[in-house]
Amino acid sequence: MSAAPSAAVRSALTLALASVLLTSGAQAAPRELRASRFVQVRAADKFERSRIANTGISIEAVLSDSVWGFATEKMVDSLKSSGFKVMGNFDASVARGGHQDGFDFPAADARYHNYTEMTSKLKFIAQSHADIARLSSIGKTLEGRDIWALHINSSPEALASRSSTKPGIIYVANHHAREHLSAEVPLMFAQHILTNRMQPEIAALLEARDIWIVPMLNADGVEHDIATGRYQYWRKNRRNNGDGTFGVDLNRNYGFQWGTGGSSNDTSSDVYMGPNPFSEPETQVFKAFVEGLPNVKILLSFHTFSELILYPWGHTHDTIGKQDDLRVHEKMARTMAAWNGYVPQQSSDLYIASGDTTDWSYGQLGIISFTFELSPRNTAGMGGFYPGAKIVDKAFADNLKPMLYLLDLANDPYRALTNRPTGFLKSYVQPQPELSQFWSR
Ligand SMILES: [Zn+2]
Repeated sequence: MSAAPSAAVRSALTLALASVLLTSGAQAAPRELRASRFVQVRAADKFERSRIANTGISIEAVLSDSVWGFATEKMVDSLKSSGFKVMGNFDASVARGGHQDGFDFPAADARYHNYTEMTSKLKFIAQSHADIARLSSIGKTLEGRDIWALHINSSPEALASRSSTKPGIIYVANHHAREHLSAEVPLMFAQHILTNRMQPEIAALLEARDIWIVPMLNADGVEHDIATGRYQYWRKNRRNNGDGTFGVDLNRNYGFQWGTGGSSNDTSSDVYMGPNPFSEPETQVFKAFVEGLPNVKILLSFHTFSELILYPWGHTHDTIGKQDDLRVHEKMARTMAAWNGYVPQQSSDLYIASGDTTDWSYGQLGIISFTFELSPRNTAGMGGFYPGAKIVDKAFADNLKPMLYLLDLANDPYRALTNRPTGFLKSYVQPQPELSQFWSR
């Protein structure tokens, strides 16, 4: 039996241990400061929800009596002192996920496409239909990744010049990193319309429309969210804000009524609006891209989750002033909701949010614009963003007809107000069963 170490030895051991800790501490990257509480806050109506949104919380789910969202400790304190009742309160830094060897989705969610897989799948799709599809980079993310746009047009001249006189539509997704399902649905849509290009209704649509699909705008954020093999609940881009925090909320960074509510100038907030409108490369690239396509009449931005169809405005509780535009947004949203079972509403009926894509695309450019909040309907704990691979087929099937309907109406969205709103589209085209096989890896 060895003797107990002397006081001198114990002291030396303590010093050695302390120096190891200090050294490793100095070498480790500084801990990122970010909103890390997932909280439920009681809220009776859109006005209370807007007050909550104004504290810098990113509201992720709206229930009849409350909201769920990501907050910092400071925001939670400020809510409580303003009299709000904070109910659930989870540490969101405990990320969920499977294997930990990193740099990809957890094994159970391998069906989702990381940036590299997305890039090769888009290249494959474009090469498989090179006569009517082309993939191009519309610019770079902050970290230098290409932002891909798949262009579908039956005219070789249009593909070559990236411009067309045919009526256009843009499907864009993944402004928010952790909303991985949002990228899968437009990707499957691209594959579907090209695989079924001989089907008469789709053939007619492909002949008559100019189609653009930008499935992964925030590629840096996506990669960060899965970089450890465990989900990070990451929302924003990867801007180094210079104060220990990272990220600007790209869907609060657009320049129409920017910073007028429901976004935050607190850099640690998940809804940080950025130092200026269009301060971020990703929103700058998308702005220039949309502005360069004057033929575009309809824009659809995919997010998750809650099963909603949203239309402007987000920055105010006022409705769209131009009566025809209000009616066309309402009518189209209701029509699509009857097919996918989502809830159609003005965006600010949830809560005020300024600087989003669709307020800008409609408000600045007059493009009829929608946001889909895809499945699931409710948050299950913090699982709303990570609903698993099984939900992809359902989300696509639910939204195929709405996506085709928008494509159909893109020559004249105001046709929605007439008795015969659809042109080429006569029936609900079911997804082909072989698609599931194609997409499984
Ligand atoms: Zn989102």
